[in-house]
Amino acid sequence: MTRIVIPEHSLFGLANLPYGVFSTPGAPPRVGVRVADTVVDLTFVDDVFAAPSLNPFMAQGHARWVEVRDQILDLVSGDVPDAAVHPVGTVTMHMPFEVADYVDFYASEHHASNLGRLFRPDSEPLMPNWKHLPVGYHGRAGTVVPSGTDIVRPTGQRKGEDAPTFGESHRLDIEAEVGFVVGTPSPLGTPVGLDDFGERVFGVVLVNDWSARDIQAWEYVPLGPFLGKSFATSISPWVVPLLALDAARVATPPQDPEPLPYLREKDLWGLDLSLEIAWNGQVVSRPPYREMYWSPAQMLAHMTVNGASSRTGDLFASGTVSGPEKDQRGAFIELTWGGKDPVTVNGEPRTFLEDGDEVTISATAPGPSGTRIGFGEVQGRVLPAR
Ligand code: MN
Repeated sequence: MTRIVIPEHSLFGLANLPYGVFSTPGAPPRVGVRVADTVVDLTFVDDVFAAPSLNPFMAQGHARWVEVRDQILDLVSGDVPDAAVHPVGTVTMHMPFEVADYVDFYASEHHASNLGRLFRPDSEPLMPNWKHLPVGYHGRAGTVVPSGTDIVRPTGQRKGEDAPTFGESHRLDIEAEVGFVVGTPSPLGTPVGLDDFGERVFGVVLVNDWSARDIQAWEYVPLGPFLGKSFATSISPWVVPLLALDAARVATPPQDPEPLPYLREKDLWGLDLSLEIAWNGQVVSRPPYREMYWSPAQMLAHMTVNGASSRTGDLFASGTVSGPEKDQRGAFIELTWGGKDPVTVNGEPRTFLEDGDEVTISATAPGPSGTRIGFGEVQGRVLPAR
């Protein structure tokens, strides 16, 4: 038997207990929980975790999530069978869940205003709808990939002087985002109210929504993002349960004008996640999630208000997290103001991503009693276009 030692300031203490899918040599992928620097095999708790995905467990619903979290806490705070314990450095992490549908929002007022100024310099930065609904689009679930997946530079049409040109993107960018994973589905024709968020949403991951700005700028009017986004979206391997984030809840910034009734609630809450973006190992930005204008519950309510169903494994991401300060911007197009104002990375002026560049987004949030909760990281490296 093993007693797991948890260092005092571990980001993966007993208040966190994030779920992920891991494998060890000679054994198939299965669900585990991260405790300090170990992964505990949850097939020792329930057979539902023998799957290579969290979906079967998430589909069991909120009451089971609560019950099983208590069982896991019991297991990992006592003597754990040796065969269930693996040092985190010895396992391979996989996609934590099977993505059903993927939606990407645009919930940061700072990001939306900055992008408005950059893409449409001659008009109001925010479109007239922006403060009335959480703007979003349906993305491509099949190209959501786990952290560590190399990203091949995308190729496509770009605006030219007289005619479009074709070739590799010259303005490859990141978007640091927070993603919410739906556990309990909602049927067709049944909107999810703001109060139902906690019953429906299982947990939170970090997202890097890789973006080819030159492809995006040419294609996006009038139907929104398409090939400039769909080539890849990376997520972190650990799903932090919503049940671990009570101490991280904060009020959203004031909403003015007051939104329509289905988006209106007295106690709208966001999350106090502190993100960090490292470009080739150097931290270039620290976006604060607490600044996000639209709350996670408002995003889910809006996504389903027309009667669209939601499914176990649906992923909806917040959109780029940007704060009011320059060093809080969550995309390089904002950080370098469209490439006009380079940032210095390891002594060199940089604007958009070059082949071989590596980007790592990590985050922490407040836990109970002054502790911190870690989200791990989402990392990816750019490979040359094919
Ligand atoms: Mn995005």
